[in-house]
Amino acid sequence: MLIDQSLSPSHAISLEDRFGAHNYHPIPVVLQRGEGVYVWDVEGKRYYDFLSAYSAVNQGHCHPQIIAALVEQAQQLTLTSRAFYNDKLGVYEQFVTSYFGFDKVLPMNTGAEAVETALKICRKWAYEKKGIPENQAQIVVCENNFHGRTTTIISFSNDENARKNFGPYTNGFIRIPYDDVAALEHVLKTNPNIAGFLVEPIQGEAGVYTPADDYMKQTQALCHAHNVLFIADEIQTGIARTGALLAVCGDCTCEQACERQASYTRPDLLILGKALSGGVYPVSAVLADNAIMDVIKPGQHGSTFGGNPLAAAVATKALEVVQDEHLAQNARRLGQLFREKMQQYIDQSNIVTQVRGRGLLNAIVINDHEESETAWNICVELANNGLLAKPTHGNIIRFAPPLVMTEGQLLECVDIITTTLSKFEK
Ligand SMILES: *Cc1c(COP(=O)(O)O)cnc(C)c1O
Repeated sequence: MLIDQSLSPSHAISLEDRFGAHNYHPIPVVLQRGEGVYVWDVEGKRYYDFLSAYSAVNQGHCHPQIIAALVEQAQQLTLTSRAFYNDKLGVYEQFVTSYFGFDKVLPMNTGAEAVETALKICRKWAYEKKGIPENQAQIVVCENNFHGRTTTIISFSNDENARKNFGPYTNGFIRIPYDDVAALEHVLKTNPNIAGFLVEPIQGEAGVYTPADDYMKQTQALCHAHNVLFIADEIQTGIARTGALLAVCGDCTCEQACERQASYTRPDLLILGKALSGGVYPVSAVLADNAIMDVIKPGQHGSTFGGNPLAAAVATKALEVVQDEHLAQNARRLGQLFREKMQQYIDQSNIVTQVRGRGLLNAIVINDHEESETAWNICVELANNGLLAKPTHGNIIRFAPPLVMTEGQLLECVDIITTTLSKFEK
């Protein structure tokens, strides 16, 4: 069969429309190539990528060192399954555990799988270590959470679009308001069967909701006081995105998660994905210390692809790049500059009401009702002007470029964004 190598944009879109399930609603651009902070469409037009594949491409598109690691390992060995040992997995496991400061890692592929893994470990720990009666364990989650798309995860979502008609739902979850320490304290005090608290340090999908500075510290302290596991989903916020290696590092700018820093809030279970591979290959992980991870015994959990040598080689290089190129410091510095510049615009704007975020995970709020098309129309116009972004929820636009951006590039992007927004001023 002959495959057309030079698809027109409309042809590419019609193929996806006709032969693919309609589970996404993409901005109408057809991308063909990426390098660093840029992507190009099939007609050769260049764009700044301000989504970074939902923060998977923190290291920039097609980072040459990560691609080289991928190619080298792909020519050697890609998959053995965990029925046998391989010469890359153990080396990676030693590297990633020391990088994030945990005893052990459980390797998986996608983010949702890693969240599922953390939930399973948490429940098993609750029955075998904490002594909760069988099938009684509850895990506390937050309103407007996003942790992925499996049946269990959407069971505790309150997004109707994600949930409706996918029931019956998995039991064992209690939802409380986000950024509300008192609400957590109340459930922990009144329910003896709480096993864990699953939380995003910043709610990315919900619209980059940034909680109070001490929210992580205070909720962790409450969990520990009640012998409940503090589970951080850093799939989107982790790996330098928010201007620190992890969002739970707080103000600490060093490139290792280290307990010596007062601002560090150490999770009992740390969930990573997305940028763990620099967007090159699906790699996710759950990290924990022995007292927790050792509840998992042979045969009790697994994945055919989890921990494969290709993933191990790619993730190791992706994490090295984060340190070598000081991506956390760059994200912190450029993020401050971005919010300053956007605030200057907002001060004389009536179409944008707020900019918020940390590091290079930011969002602006458009002055319109949640169901309005304005944010979508702004994103289409941004694309025409050479910058790709997408609304998260209705009237909120997330801005999350690759962290390899320079100051000059960021200022050019601020110009594109403010010029575009000014056309929508009323
Ligand atoms: C993207 C994301 C997930 C799910 O990851 P997938 O790889 O899409 O399954 C889970 N949690 C958070 C916070 C995310 O941003």
